[in-house]
Amino acid sequence: MALVAALMVGLAACDGTAPDAGPASDDPAPAPRPAGGPVDGPRLRIVGTVQDGGLPHAACSCVRCEAARADPGRRRFVSSVAIVLPDPARVFLIDATPDIREQLDALRDLRGPLPGRVDRAPIDGVFLTHAHIGHYLGLAFFGFEAVHAQKLPVYCSAPLAGYLRDNGPWSQLVRIGNIELRESPAGSAIDLGQGVSVTPLSVPHRDEYADTVGFVIRGPRSTILYVPDTDSWRAWDPPATEQLRGIDVAIVDATFFSTAEMPGRAVESIGHPLIADSMDLFEPLVRDGKLQVYFTHLNHSNPALDPNGPEATEIRKRGFAVLEEKQELPL
Ligand SMILES: [Zn+2]
Ligand SMILES: [Zn+2]
Ligand SMILES: [Zn+2]
Repeated sequence: MALVAALMVGLAACDGTAPDAGPASDDPAPAPRPAGGPVDGPRLRIVGTVQDGGLPHAACSCVRCEAARADPGRRRFVSSVAIVLPDPARVFLIDATPDIREQLDALRDLRGPLPGRVDRAPIDGVFLTHAHIGHYLGLAFFGFEAVHAQKLPVYCSAPLAGYLRDNGPWSQLVRIGNIELRESPAGSAIDLGQGVSVTPLSVPHRDEYADTVGFVIRGPRSTILYVPDTDSWRAWDPPATEQLRGIDVAIVDATFFSTAEMPGRAVESIGHPLIADSMDLFEPLVRDGKLQVYFTHLNHSNPALDPNGPEATEIRKRGFAVLEEKQELPL
């Protein structure tokens, strides 16, 4: 798609969050339970739902991060989802996060670990959205020092493939064959079998090292859009509501709930859609039953992380949902 110029926002952290994230509420609600039970057939399994810095966020002592440190039930991993095909069992991760060790553990039941040794092929492939730390650093664990994978397929854009091929430590993964880069142009479907395909979609975002994509995952029952990081919906051209035609479920960037998390910052300077704005934009489609919307990639400052807080309640009331780890969605 043709992109309008990315908004240059002058943000310091990967997703512009750490330096100026406001305080969390004083009374975090109890940790949420996973929504719904396991799903049969091709499906997505959610293995991470927060912004690149994690929850607890690296080096943060806000109330919400300290609560997550004290109670592992409140911890959240960096945004990632697994595409699960049941027969034969195949598992593909979207993004390789700094939390990948725990996220591989969260997928072990799907294929069964090899008894007593390292499984050199714990998953069947990785799809990468972009080269910000929360989305690709975990690739390093497929290298010689850890899993030592053999030709793990890594699907990504040509610019991102070039970046990985030309820069260490990623270049070593390519050179010794731990990963095999599969350049995947936007708009071209990749067939995974069992009725499931994945199509990259160009997304406007701060493209420092390479460009950014989301993925449209088509299955026999449902078509799911996964966009963990994007500039404001205003930067989408054609408009997001047009590009979402034919999508049943959208899992979208919800880094911030509102500008209240960033006092003094103009909304135009925030390089993400606000949850409040996303609800306004998608509400007609949601109300008509044409679209389900789940929010992911929440920053540690985002009050929607507190499941019983007023923001999470408003989200549910308006027919939206915050994505939950361990949750499964049929494909
Ligand atoms: Zn991110
Ligand atoms: Zn924090
Ligand atoms: Zn990013």
